[in-house]
Amino acid sequence: MPVEQTLAELVSINSVSNNSNAEVIKYLAARCEAMGLSVKLFPYEDEQSVEKINMVAWTGNDSDKIDVELALVGHTDTVPFDAAWAEALRLTEREGRLYGRGACDTKGFIAAALAAVEGADLRGLGRPLALVFTADEEVGCLGAKRLAQARPLSARYSVVGEPTSLRPMRAGKGYCLAEIVLRGREGHSAYPALGASAIFRAARLVTRIERIGEELQADARPDFEPPYTTLNVGLLRGGTAKNIIAGECRFTLEWRPVPGQEASHVVELVRAAIEDEQARDRDFDCSLNVIRLDEAMETPAESRLVRLLEETTGSTAGTIAFGTEAPQMTELGAEAVVFGPGDIRVAHRTGEFVPVEELRECARVLSRAIEHFCLQAERTTP
Ligand SMILES: [Zn+2]
Repeated sequence: MPVEQTLAELVSINSVSNNSNAEVIKYLAARCEAMGLSVKLFPYEDEQSVEKINMVAWTGNDSDKIDVELALVGHTDTVPFDAAWAEALRLTEREGRLYGRGACDTKGFIAAALAAVEGADLRGLGRPLALVFTADEEVGCLGAKRLAQARPLSARYSVVGEPTSLRPMRAGKGYCLAEIVLRGREGHSAYPALGASAIFRAARLVTRIERIGEELQADARPDFEPPYTTLNVGLLRGGTAKNIIAGECRFTLEWRPVPGQEASHVVELVRAAIEDEQARDRDFDCSLNVIRLDEAMETPAESRLVRLLEETTGSTAGTIAFGTEAPQMTELGAEAVVFGPGDIRVAHRTGEFVPVEELRECARVLSRAIEHFCLQAERTTP
């Protein structure tokens, strides 16, 4: 089946993250079974009790442990779309571009991966190959995190599909989020000694966090832009009225750690700052709740997968600042590279599209990767 037709069929199935992805998985399972792959489904219920399914299709027997040489990974969910966007579920071609929700992020990659596997002589494969389709990527890589925890598969190399305009991306910053709550004591603002301002306390802590951010710049990774871990206090809310000493103040702290720096490093630094404030002010009441702690990922520049994708595409590997499922594939043992057709800057918006030529080229590059990693009978040393 031509890659554009596969993409049209995938786009026609609404798989916005808050819906079940069962229908798109059913479609993908049928396609993979028709190619002679073994298919295993990993269903779960999300927080809203909606059924979500991760799927692995591979060139081995049902009874085998799924341990593959190469895994091609795509997420089946998409971000929501505006009801007024008529093409959202009907792939439409104009001037060499295919428009539709998910065309770029990440159904284009999935269509290209199916085309590449369909074109391969699976009986001739010396080393196993897998297609991995996940749920809930757009809401925090929740499907991939379940796979990483349950470990139903391992892979030596993995191409994680995301729109990178066909440039291989071998490293990415992590993504972390915490909420910090300061408590004080309410009172009439004319008599500050009667209360304790949670806002003044929060301000002291935010100033320290700003300094932590400046100190982290010393731990530089020149491959990234900006080349260090960044911090952001994006929301801050406190107090009830202008003439009441604020009883509570809460703020969010987001940070994006560079590879080589543990995601929890910032938590340790902030906790030390809180303890220091508590040493000066025994009443300093503060709680820090970590909501998300996604590690950064980095695959060495010398990795065979990086080298092959560089050679095949003619572009040198880069780095990305947005979150992907590559860290989970790293947890599953893989040297992972993020790669796919389309531009991340047009993803997540009305009018998302993938250039037809990039879509076809992606299928060719993935075919080449399958040949390179899975066709020879003998494992070559990296
Ligand atoms: Zn995506």
